[in-house]
Amino acid sequence: MTLSRLLIANRGEIACRIIRGCRALGIRAIAVYSEADRDARHVREADEAWPIGPASARESYLDIQRILDTARAARADAIHPGYGFLSENADFAAACAAAGIRFVGPPASVIRAMGLKHEAKALVEAAGVPVVPGYAGADQSPESLRTAAERLGFPLLVKAAAGGGGRGMRVVRAAGELNDALAAARGEAENAFGDGRLLLERFIERPRHIEVQVFGDTHGGCVHLFERECSVQRRYQKIIEEAPSPFPDSATRTALTAAAVRAARAVGYVNAGTVEFIVAGDGSFYFMEMNTRLQVEHPVTEAITGLDLVAWQLAVAAGAPLPLAQEQIRAAGHAVEARICCEDPARGFLPSTGRIRRFIAPPADDHWRIDAGVSDGDVVGPWYDGLIAKVIASGPDRATALATLNHRLARTAVHGVTTNLALLRAIAARPEFAASGVDTGFVERELPALLAPPAPADAALLVAARVALDDIAATARRAGSHSPWAQGDGWRAGAAARQALGLRMPDFHRAYARSQGDVVDLEIGERPVRGRVRGDGQQFTVAAGDGSREVEVIRDGPALQVVADRADEITLAPAWPFERSVDDAEAHPASPLPGRIVSLRVAAGDRVEAGQVLAVVEGMKVQHPVRAARAGRVTAVLVAAGDLVDAEAFLLELAPT
Ligand code: ADP
Ligand code: ADP
Ligand code: MG
Repeated sequence: MTLSRLLIANRGEIACRIIRGCRALGIRAIAVYSEADRDARHVREADEAWPIGPASARESYLDIQRILDTARAARADAIHPGYGFLSENADFAAACAAAGIRFVGPPASVIRAMGLKHEAKALVEAAGVPVVPGYAGADQSPESLRTAAERLGFPLLVKAAAGGGGRGMRVVRAAGELNDALAAARGEAENAFGDGRLLLERFIERPRHIEVQVFGDTHGGCVHLFERECSVQRRYQKIIEEAPSPFPDSATRTALTAAAVRAARAVGYVNAGTVEFIVAGDGSFYFMEMNTRLQVEHPVTEAITGLDLVAWQLAVAAGAPLPLAQEQIRAAGHAVEARICCEDPARGFLPSTGRIRRFIAPPADDHWRIDAGVSDGDVVGPWYDGLIAKVIASGPDRATALATLNHRLARTAVHGVTTNLALLRAIAARPEFAASGVDTGFVERELPALLAPPAPADAALLVAARVALDDIAATARRAGSHSPWAQGDGWRAGAAARQALGLRMPDFHRAYARSQGDVVDLEIGERPVRGRVRGDGQQFTVAAGDGSREVEVIRDGPALQVVADRADEITLAPAWPFERSVDDAEAHPASPLPGRIVSLRVAAGDRVEAGQVLAVVEGMKVQHPVRAARAGRVTAVLVAAGDLVDAEAFLLELAPT
């Protein structure tokens, strides 16, 4: 049979990915959405979309009955569950089968066999696959677990049998910590999975997470599509993945892929699956678990094999044999994926929410793929996973792929919501990572260093100063001819004016800058920086010291991402408290220069006309009137006659009438 109408029981980037897959195959893509996702990107991109309930996942994306009813109403002949949500839910797969709708994944019995880690371990061990030594018994009494722990030794890992997404996991370094860890893991597991069963595993020190993509069909075929390295993790969850893994030698690679196929065959595996191994420093590897679904990081496998895994999934679900035999599946080159998540790495990876004002990334090409689930203006709420996009760099070898990743991540920006982008850039730029990859504990060990931004490059500072000076000049021109700045390059005889600037990077620095022609002189701290800056607001050429370089600016209001080699984030700020920012000119009439208020002509509550003189400032032995840029009402007066004020200091607040 062929599939013609596919319901996608998911949201976000994976729903969008599957919709693209449908389009390529001429299959009608049917989206479902919760109330929170009414305007979501996957709804906009699908051929049709059906509501399935409130924002809460339990009452929408996890509601088996609701989704099946919708599938029937929409006359779907198959359901793709994506990842997360119902993707590894055996009851859902069984319900689909009972309703005569194809489930794009393995049969319920296979999901059930692999769904609980301890049962899966016993199963694959019997098939001759090494598993992490530990306790996976049915007896869950505290005494049995304690006895097993003593026998196993420390450190050990407590895991939720039904676990996923790194939840329900605790490292125990000494016997005294065991009871608390068991209680915490059990609570978390019951909460997240409705199943408090636990297993114990020897904690492998500084391991790699290496997994193998497998595929089975309904005709007894079972192949692997090579491995992926997923050791860059936070909180036991992947954030950067690559294929192939830089770690194993070819003998180990062969053994890993063979073990994975053995594990898959042991359960009669069908469709896409991933066999996850933990690999010790000496190359010994152990089965951890099997994920019976499409994986978040499947694009790196697609990049090195040139295959479309979603197309394979749909073919297999339709009953076709695997499109290729093992020896026809080849890998070439290297690919790396980075997950852009709405979270704040500086605050314990707390989820962040908000409206995505702008998502900027270099356009996709043969070496750069963007799998996004959001567009500009979309809201990231608190209800679902914070993964909003994946970017995938590829190339003929690892060094080239990493160079592309670094280069393009520097030019990627998300405005409006806090993301882990700066952390991803910092990891991708680390020499250890470039050398041969890192172990699973690297990110957490190095987090303070990874979160501390290096001081911006001189070229970046010069460009930020140029942008700030141009802003000030533009503001002055808008404010009218009464402003001394309106006269062009500076109004002091013989020299451009020195401007005070505020730069946050992210600590606040007050800098002084002046420009004459292309030359920018900047003083920041005690440090002078000088160079020639030519450019148009986005692309600059900076000649400073002995060389010249191209510098790019990605701008969102006062926030600048200045890309020389890496991305330096510099936010323009008022140099002084109460000073106006670029767009504040109308609301905050300000002193044009450092000086003294010689007269204040208005009081709070007064109505003023555009052009009316509000105050007079004396500086440089000249009196300068400050006029209202628009008609309005004075809502606050911030200075008094006789006060000394700095350049750009706010004098009062003006509300429009
Ligand atoms: P992968 O193994 O594909 O890298 P992750 O472990 O990062 O996947 O999880 C994939 C997605 O599925 C994430 O969005 C995660 O939050 C979600 N997820 C994983 N396991 C579960 C689960 N048991 N229940 C609900 N969501 C889950
Ligand atoms: P989940 O279902 O949450 O994905 P896994 O069993 O796949 O759980 O483990 C997630 C991560 O936890 C692994 O990628 C690895 O970093 C770490 N981990 C799991 N088991 C071990 C172990 N025995 N020793 C050391 N680290 C482990
Ligand atoms: Mg896992």
